[in-house]
Amino acid sequence: MFIRELFRKNGPVISFEVFPPKADAPVEGVYRTIEALKDLSPGFISVTYGAGGSSRDRTVEIASRIRNGYGIEALAHLTCRSHTAGEIDEICEELLDEGVQNILALRGDPQPSDAEDDRERSFFYACDLVRHLRRNHFGNFCIGAAAYPEGHIECQDLARDLDFLKMKVEAGAEFLITQLFFDNELFYRFRDEASRKGIAVPIVAGIFPVLNAAQVQKIVSLCGVSLPPRFTRIIARYANSPAALAEAGVAYATDQIVDLLAAGVDGIHLYTMN
Ligand code: FAD
Repeated sequence: MFIRELFRKNGPVISFEVFPPKADAPVEGVYRTIEALKDLSPGFISVTYGAGGSSRDRTVEIASRIRNGYGIEALAHLTCRSHTAGEIDEICEELLDEGVQNILALRGDPQPSDAEDDRERSFFYACDLVRHLRRNHFGNFCIGAAAYPEGHIECQDLARDLDFLKMKVEAGAEFLITQLFFDNELFYRFRDEASRKGIAVPIVAGIFPVLNAAQVQKIVSLCGVSLPPRFTRIIARYANSPAALAEAGVAYATDQIVDLLAAGVDGIHLYTMN
């Protein structure tokens, strides 16, 4: 099923994200996670993709198992920055062979293996990938894209970031999943701005239930998201008590979700960290 149909049918769509274990780790670990999540009947489960192509086989394999083994709709992430158009087409064929019909089209972060010469690159931005998927694989996939309520870390100008987001939607992105955030007001402001720009596709809110203090530093350095005072007070209060911090992190995420559902959010995407 195409994910766009879930938004029409079921109201707020609850989804989970998992990532493929590293190549030298057994893949079974992620299946134990999915086994535990499946009884919650998520609308879909997404599988991340290693930006340099490192997780290619495992992303396809796990997405296939989600769909064909667990009977849950799968969303395969796909990054384009390090791939040629031909490689992207091959991955699309592999996904199609497995019946995976949904792709989250991403640029990916720069990788050491990336070609230095721009002339060797097929794709510069996620928008280029969305356009390619529409042109070369029309009708085969429902395409989603990433959105950043606080702006993408490389972009200093939120309005420009929204212009680029609109380009992705105009190129064919049918729904958006946001970067994690801890302040719902920022999400509401972003949603209003997107609507004013004419972005009318469903926007799924990315929620990260923090389970330990180390995750917070990592998130801030990787994503540049802001931490509201209420959140930092909680982290500081329970920093030396791992069990209490995990409980408080889940409670904080739950509060966010209750508020988002009350505000009519299109969906909640939970970054499960496996
Ligand atoms: P883009 O939409 O291309 O934007 C990248 C930057 O370029 C932004 O600053 C934007 O403002 C700017 N830009 C866009 N278009 C133009 C243009 N035409 N001209 C000039 N500037 C432009 N990474 C992974 O490696 N694997 C994953 O599985 C993965 N999953 C993700 C899932 C979600 C929900 C999110 C939010 C992020 C995910 N990422 C993943 C991270 C993502 O790859 C990085 O944030 C990456 O730096 C940007 O990807 P994008 O698709 O948002 O890029």
